[in-house]
Amino acid sequence: MMEAKNDDYDLFVIGAGSGGVRAARIAAGHGAKVGIAEGRDMGGTCVNRGCVPKKLLVYSAKMRREFDDAKAYGWNFFGVLRFKWQDLIRNKDREIKRLNGIYDSLLDNSRVDIYRGYAKFSDPHTVEVDGKKIKAKRILIATGGKPRFPDIPGKEHMISSDEAFHMPALPKKIVLIGGGYISVEFACIFRAMGSEVTVINRGGSLLRTFDEDLQTHLAEEMEKQGIKIIFNCEPTKVEKSGSALRVHTNQGDVLSCDTVMAAIGRDANTQDLNLEAAGIDAEPDGRIKTNKDSETNVPHIYAVGDIANDHNLTPVALEEGHTLADRLFGGMPNRYTDYTNIPTAVFSQPPIGTVGMTEQQAREQKIDYEIYKTAFRPMKNTLSGRDERTYMKLIVERGSRKVLGAHMLGDDAPEIIQMTAIVLKMGGTKDDFDRTIGVHPTAAEEFVTMRDPAP
Ligand code: NDP
Repeated sequence: MMEAKNDDYDLFVIGAGSGGVRAARIAAGHGAKVGIAEGRDMGGTCVNRGCVPKKLLVYSAKMRREFDDAKAYGWNFFGVLRFKWQDLIRNKDREIKRLNGIYDSLLDNSRVDIYRGYAKFSDPHTVEVDGKKIKAKRILIATGGKPRFPDIPGKEHMISSDEAFHMPALPKKIVLIGGGYISVEFACIFRAMGSEVTVINRGGSLLRTFDEDLQTHLAEEMEKQGIKIIFNCEPTKVEKSGSALRVHTNQGDVLSCDTVMAAIGRDANTQDLNLEAAGIDAEPDGRIKTNKDSETNVPHIYAVGDIANDHNLTPVALEEGHTLADRLFGGMPNRYTDYTNIPTAVFSQPPIGTVGMTEQQAREQKIDYEIYKTAFRPMKNTLSGRDERTYMKLIVERGSRKVLGAHMLGDDAPEIIQMTAIVLKMGGTKDDFDRTIGVHPTAAEEFVTMRDPAP
């Protein structure tokens, strides 16, 4: 632990993940005296156990498909194609270490004091890190979340996404529990690398909050790849015998595998913060209640990111940290995070990009809407013969022609939806899409060439 330059901070941040680091750097840039505590790795979930290593694994999984398709495009490998999980993990770890260092120097260059250790409250203006008491005028809690496990016998035999990034070997047979972001992404990663994959989900569809067409089409595409999906299914018990695991389900099945991965959501990381000492109210699930100013019930104590919001997305945590620092120290009292039309992606295969309202939401809100949608075989799949389709869908308000939602399942969907999100943010209409000339030949051009509403 470095020696503090000054024990009295304008802002002390607990947790050096996306939200905490951004708030610390921006606040320091505005001239505030800032300290930050991190007990684990710099960069938090996103950099160490989330978005970044996951995307590196996704690149690897996609390469497998490229190799498979390459033959039809004239390429041949006169040898055996082999995948080595250990090489990928070693290289991934090297990159994450590099990023940890970058986070360190970003904070250092911003003159933020770094405390390596877990912080807990002693009183509303004091936190303790490794026995050292630190005083601050304002305190920001940005401690994020951790994987949740089903409370069933044998849960100790399960791994979560945290461990998935460090497994000594690729699972031969894996059962994933849950039908959300993490389960779907890892199912596609492991399948592409050669694992036998089963997804069990308590509901009747994957990605319950996404547009219903994407839910069904993604499940179809995953099943085509050989991923087994069992709906309305929950684990009741996990048994271990040697290295073999058996997952018992409420449907009476027993699924044999070597790895069981829980991906049923995440819990707030608040239990060791001693919130009571500062009088901070938490929800029963540990998350911290905040108002629109990211303020907890204690006015000078704030919370941002997964610990406080429902979105659990890095860019939302970054924006919350940034706007908070701007409001508190940058003389920008009206700068707030805008939670409307937040685009998001699922790095499944094919990937999803989505922004705005789903058809279910339009229906529930009794909006008078039209649907424009298309499904097609992407050009790349013509020569290779790959049986995978791309889907696109726009939800359009009938009178105003305003585009309320844009959804895509297909290669490059996350890249395409980022730009589409700007159109929605600007209040763009279907007519704006229609008079935009397409880029040919691309999949993206289909977003501007859908002429007739779906019947
Ligand atoms: P999600 O909330 O996305 O999905 C949880 C899944 O588990 C749902 O299918 C849910 O079912 C099911 N589930 C919940 N509780 C139980 C239970 N007790 N028993 C059985 N099944 C259960 O969580 P994830 O863990 O997949 O991801 C956590 C968060 O991380 C996400 O919310 C997301 O915001 C973020 N993330 C974002 C990524 C991205 O941006 N690409 C990638 C990975 C994670 P039901 O639908 O019925 O509630």
